Amino acid sequence: MIDRLSTPSSRREASVGDLTRTDLDLLVIGGGIVGAGVARDAAMRGLKVGLVEQFDFAFGTSSRSSRLLHGGLRYLAQGHVGLVREASKEKCILHRIVPHLAAPLPFVFPTRRGWQWAKWKLGIGVKMYDLLCSGRNLGRSRTLGRKRVLDMLPGLNPRGITGAVRYYDGLTNDSRLVLDTLRSATAHGAVVLNQAQFDDAERCSDIWHCRVQETVNGALFEVRAKSVINATGPWSDKLPHSRTELRLTKGVHLVIDRGRLPVPDAVVLTEGDRILFAIPWGERVILGTTDTDYDGPIESPTCDAEDVRYILEVIATLFPDAGITPADVISTWSGLRPLVADRNGNPSDISRRHEIKMGEPGWWDITGGKLTTYRLMAEQAVDQVVRRLGCNARPCRTAVEPLLTPEQCDGVSTIVPPEVGQAAVEHYTDREWAIHLDDVMMRRASWRYYHRNHLEIAESVAGWMGARLGWDDNTRRAELDRYRRATEVAGPDHPVLKPPKCGSCAARVKTV
Ligand SMILES: Cc1cc2nc3c(=O)[nH]c(=O)nc-3n(C[C@H](O)[C@H](O)[C@H](O)COP(=O)(O)OP(=O)(O)OC[C@H]3O[C@@H](n4cnc5c(N)ncnc54)[C@H](O)[C@@H]3O)c2cc1C
Repeated sequence: MIDRLSTPSSRREASVGDLTRTDLDLLVIGGGIVGAGVARDAAMRGLKVGLVEQFDFAFGTSSRSSRLLHGGLRYLAQGHVGLVREASKEKCILHRIVPHLAAPLPFVFPTRRGWQWAKWKLGIGVKMYDLLCSGRNLGRSRTLGRKRVLDMLPGLNPRGITGAVRYYDGLTNDSRLVLDTLRSATAHGAVVLNQAQFDDAERCSDIWHCRVQETVNGALFEVRAKSVINATGPWSDKLPHSRTELRLTKGVHLVIDRGRLPVPDAVVLTEGDRILFAIPWGERVILGTTDTDYDGPIESPTCDAEDVRYILEVIATLFPDAGITPADVISTWSGLRPLVADRNGNPSDISRRHEIKMGEPGWWDITGGKLTTYRLMAEQAVDQVVRRLGCNARPCRTAVEPLLTPEQCDGVSTIVPPEVGQAAVEHYTDREWAIHLDDVMMRRASWRYYHRNHLEIAESVAGWMGARLGWDDNTRRAELDRYRRATEVAGPDHPVLKPPKCGSCAARVKTV
């Protein structure tokens, strides 16, 4: 397709043609990890499937997570064994089918005297955690003595430390997981289109007539589909026909240089009822996250000064000599958790559980869950679609078939950003649907989050993208302006990252 249809614009026209030519078995709305997983699963079973995404693929929560594949050790402490077993199993499946994006990541969880997480209790907890991965976690957990922990984490405040437990989860790259899943979906015949917003739909004679607005060429078109899955994450209760009720909470992350907090493993940071993670990410460390109720614009949750202060306060208590200040923050990102609400609009007890609901014949809403459980969510949703269609589909194979073939695993699909270079940028524009500069800098390559000099890098990237996409000088400048605007709300030079004048954030931030 790429060789035959040379320009991005003609490639998009061809996709619109493919989406509108015949009745689809399934239209997926939303190009986050859940929508991408559904599209891949459905295409692998032989369904005619299309997917539309209003902005860029992975624009929403799926590029703003903590990047962990995890069972959720703290849900175990809350007694939600089934939920942890489910996610733990999925973690191990992802390690098998996407090894390049599921690296085993050891966590050190220091324990303190007189504190709710006693070392012996945690020791039993992490053994159970291993067992819940069908007995084979990504590595074996163990307990560590006090001296060993303080040797491993020399800057750690030694007061009351009794030792630690060390257990395993996985580190991924959330937006790359979405893109690789979409690449696989299209290889199996799915048609996907970004910058294409679902507007409304009407059901006539068991067919959904869906109106979609494409925003690059400006086309308004209709997709006819026997089934529709609303996989729009935090937007899912805003769509017409949706029967979902959500409660959104915001989580922010900060990125600092690893030299400022040299952690060999990920560290669980607890202070009072707050729990945060320090996650090594190449030469950087990701610090996060928070969990605050949110009712602002869904498109642009931002990290404010209170969020930064909250996270750095915890770091300062646990690593008192590190002296990390807002000036150390290289970048930030904020995401919205689409938590399924109960009838009163409260997050349900087990708020990370997912829900798949057919509110009208042939229309499903799929919400909640986690990055880690997207494959299972997709499998269960497509099972329901296949049952209703009554068609002769192939069985689900997503738990066993590798996401990409070894040839498709090129150097760009990595957890830590690839080296900056023209070849990578050409790959993103030619094979990964990048249209705007921020598509590359933020979601394809994560260079915006990894490099302090990202604006300089963006200049070069704009040049390479422009050559590929036929940008004139005005377009190139407009793209650079758009990128600056998209990043300035989260950048370390922005006023929000200057220390606040007064007030503590602790009261407004709930336990993570
Ligand atoms: C701070 C934070 C940290 C997290 N950390 C982890 C973690 O470490 N591990 C883990 O397993 N999970 C984690 N999660 C949860 C996980 O990130 C989410 O569950 C998951 O990304 C949700 O994916 P999604 O596809 O449902 O939604 P999204 O990724 O938000 O995708 C929905 C998409 O739908 C599109 N859309 C909306 N409306 C329309 C429309 N009208 N037409 C077309 N498209 C539309 C949006 O643009 C968006 O791209 C975290 C979440 C947060 C907020």
